[in-house]
Amino acid sequence: MDADYIISMRRYFHKNPELSFHEYKTADRIEEELKGMGLKPERITETGIICDINGSSKGNTVALRADIDALPVNENSGDEFASKNNGVMHACGHDAHTAMLLGIAKYLSGHKSFKGKIRLIFQPAEETPPGGAIEMIENGALDDVDYIIGQHLLSTLKAGTVGINYEYGAAMADQFSIKISGPGGHASRPDESSDTIYVASLFIVSAQSIISRMVDQTKPSVLTFGTLNGGDRFNIIASTVEITGTVRAYNRELREKIRDSLKGMLSHICSIYGSEYEFEYVEGYPALLNDRNVAKVINKIAIDVAGSENVVYPDPSMGGEDFSRYLEKVPGAFYRLGVGNKEKGIDAPPHSSKYRIDESALTTGASVMLLSAMYLLEHGTKI
Ligand code: MN
Repeated sequence: MDADYIISMRRYFHKNPELSFHEYKTADRIEEELKGMGLKPERITETGIICDINGSSKGNTVALRADIDALPVNENSGDEFASKNNGVMHACGHDAHTAMLLGIAKYLSGHKSFKGKIRLIFQPAEETPPGGAIEMIENGALDDVDYIIGQHLLSTLKAGTVGINYEYGAAMADQFSIKISGPGGHASRPDESSDTIYVASLFIVSAQSIISRMVDQTKPSVLTFGTLNGGDRFNIIASTVEITGTVRAYNRELREKIRDSLKGMLSHICSIYGSEYEFEYVEGYPALLNDRNVAKVINKIAIDVAGSENVVYPDPSMGGEDFSRYLEKVPGAFYRLGVGNKEKGIDAPPHSSKYRIDESALTTGASVMLLSAMYLLEHGTKI
């Protein structure tokens, strides 16, 4: 594995980040790199690429996926290869995911004596629902694929460690928006109006009791209100309040219970005080459920590559990840690659303007991904 190549590509992408569905230069560079290796990338969506690498004999197909998009964050990391695109930053490590996959491509382009096929998937727009995975799948990214593997950097894990989840790895990430409205009126005469700020406040405070009092406590769930806007002036009863938020859970029935309870609570509180409401709920990425057998293969390879002391089993995240869409179609698994390093001061969380990574971990990530794929091609999930 060419560590210098992976790090130099990571720094190139880091310096030149692009937002979801607009990864034009990123996709051009990926294609250019792959062609330079003698490979034949195919642009199957506006900025999405697949690239098949055939081994020396026929067999199964294993897909490896990297996401390629960045975030609307103004970088303040102090790195010399910091973003040159104002207000856009690779603050979630997708630059490294892309670079590791190119490192794998480079290795495989010179080592084709394997059975079967590796498909590289460079997917746009992981960060922006509905996400890029849907159109990659619609355009054939999973055709003939037997197994799929994905990875994600994790700064809370020490650089070079690998985190495995045998079941859920990420949650359903839904969003909702609510509008509460009333006639408005003079602040001194609340009885003649409907105080939407009071109604919104009661609703927001009460809604957390859905999580603590109304759903199964053995199954995790999160309800967060992200925005709250309303009113015009200190002495006017607000005629509208708008609220947005997100619901996270692993389990479908639980998600439905939370959604219905939110709507029920909103409806009741509004009717007591005479407000109207609109309630819109959009289902986001499905929960990410790993195939236990593929996860076991990755675990075995990770122990070989990193040593058993560097393989850990973190609690599943309540974050969302659209790799889950591939896992709904084919067996596969998603693992975490530690990139944190407290001694070097590398511990800022993802999506922060100070996000940095310990690049020494990237060869571990690329090796675990490549060798897991090779194992699956050779033995399937038999261990
Ligand atoms: Mn991410």
